[in-house]
Formats: sequence, C-alpha cells, structure tokens
Amino acid sequence: MGNNEIIKNSLDKILMYYGAIPPRGTGNWTCLSSRHKNPRDNLSVKGDICCCHCGIKGDSFAVIGELEGLGHKDKEQFLLIVKKAFEILNMPVECKKPNRHEQYESKKTKKQDGNTINELTQIISEVSKKAKTMNYIYFKTRGIINPYLFKKYRLIVGNPKRIFPSKLLPNLTNIWAYEYIIPIIKDGRVVNCILRRNDNKSNSNNKTLNLKGLPVEFFNGDYLKETNLKYIFICEGVFDALTFLNFGHKALSINSIVMINKLFQEVKNNKEGLKNTIFFIAFDQDEKGWGQKAAAELINKLKSINIKAKSLKLKEYKDINEYYCNNQKSFLESIDKVIPI
Ligand SMILES: [Zn+2]
Ligand SMILES: [Zn+2]
Repeated sequence: MGNNEIIKNSLDKILMYYGAIPPRGTGNWTCLSSRHKNPRDNLSVKGDICCCHCGIKGDSFAVIGELEGLGHKDKEQFLLIVKKAFEILNMPVECKKPNRHEQYESKKTKKQDGNTINELTQIISEVSKKAKTMNYIYFKTRGIINPYLFKKYRLIVGNPKRIFPSKLLPNLTNIWAYEYIIPIIKDGRVVNCILRRNDNKSNSNNKTLNLKGLPVEFFNGDYLKETNLKYIFICEGVFDALTFLNFGHKALSINSIVMINKLFQEVKNNKEGLKNTIFFIAFDQDEKGWGQKAAAELINKLKSINIKAKSLKLKEYKDINEYYCNNQKSFLESIDKVIPI
C-alpha cells in the first residue's frame, strides 16, 4: 500500500479523530457535533462519506481539507492535508529538512500535544491508583487474569465521562458504555487510550474508540526500540496482545491493519537492534481475508530487510483471544511449539 492509499483506507480513523461516531450496526455514522445541533446518524460512509445536512463529503483528503479549512484541489494545500493525515495516522515521514515555517508549526503542535499528553498521563496515574476497587470481570472473561498486567498497563474500568475531559471524548450520548479503558503508553507517558464497550449493543463496528484529537498509536510500540529481543508477537487487536502478555510473552498491537507500513518503517529504523528478533505475525482471520493478506504483505516486507518473520496459525478461530478463550490447551501448545528456547 502506498501512503495515499493508506490515508484513503483510513477514513474511519480520520473521522473518529475529529469526533465522528461509527454506527450502532450498519447504517450511518453520527456527524461532528460541532457542525450540527443534532448530528445523530447523519453521515453516510460508503467508501466516500456524505452528510447532506452539513455538506461534508468525499474521501479522507476532502474530509481533512474541509475540517482544517484547506482546499484539496490546491496543490500546496493538498500537501498540508497529507501532512495532517500523516500526523493523525502517526505515519513516519521520510526525511526532508523542514523549512523555518514548518519547523515553527511543528514545534507549536508538538507543544499542544505535549500538554494534552501530560494531562492525560496525570489523569490515568490518578485513576489507576483506585485499581483495587475496580471491577475487572470483563477482562477476566476474556482470559486476561494476570494481576501484574492490570497494574503495569494501568487498565481502568469506569465511565469515560467521569475520567476524561470532554475535549478528549467523542460527543456520544452513550459514551458511558465504553468503560473498559486501555491506556497506550509510550516512553512512560499515556499518548492515547483504547475505549472498549461490552454492552448488548456492542458490535464489530462500534466496539472500540480512541480518544478524540490524538494520533493513532501502537499498543506497546516501545518494544520496537529494544535490542536483544528474542521474539515478539505482532497482533491486530489489543486483546490479542494482552493474551500473550498474560503469559509473560512480549506482544504489541497495531490496532488497524492499515498500520502495517508504519510498523515496517519502525522496524526498519531499528533494524540493527532487531536483527535477531523473530516477529510472529498474529493478525485476525476475518471474513474478507484482510488480516491474513496484511500479514503476508508484512512478512514479505520484513524478510526483504532480513528480519525474521513468521505467521501464526489460528486454526478455525477468528483471532488470538478467541483461540485462547475457546481452546486454551491447544493455544498454549501452539505457542510453545514456535517460540525459541
Ligand atoms: Zn448526502
Ligand atoms: Zn454533518
């Protein structure tokens, strides 16, 4: 996938970054509350998007253009749109020396993001102090039972409205449902969170949200900066990564298959440090075959820079966590078989 293709395929992430809400089932998204009195179910997303009510429409580039006040048909402004997309999706930028104005702008946004991240880190550290009284049953039903994990990853259960400032939350009437909170920690700071719901209206479209206005990040991405790592499991979803972590293995999740290029880029940046590491790619077996296709693509790319990469077999299960929850014995044996001693 080229960069523009990744951006095009990440329309949902971009919409969520600006605070739009995916539908309860199939059907329309809820448009941005800043553009409507009642934005509920206005936004049709079928490849491109269209909201008849406020007039936002088009692809990822058009959406960013509209919301950032940039014209996507103007060449110079289009580059700014692409730059913003890189920022939202946290894509690595090829090295080109920025000019003075760009340096100033990027310093400014870094400072704003930095303030938000400090605030967020503070909030999570305060709230996770109450971890003892938290009800971790949902995590436990998914086999995440290692008490060390709850502490280390500062997992939280609670109403997001009571935890986060409103500027970080999508304006959603049932935001309370997203009560399972998994902080994404990078260099010791909380840079975003994954909010998971598990009520009876939860489905594959709407089950997770990120905090609003913060870039997409890997869960446990810091592992890619290590040296002397023997092996690591690369997962699609955060519960798959938690499944491995539950047994003391190292794992990270990329949280969306469009992020495989970013993963590759980060591995490449630390090629020397990771030259002896085995990458086990454990993406989903979804109906459309996207997960497995992305896994194959990633493995080829990693091999092309002499990084060891293998795909992990899931039998008939759709993802790692489902495999583990349904057939723990087989799952653990399959892991023991592949990992180096
Ligand atoms: Zn329309
Ligand atoms: Zn609208």
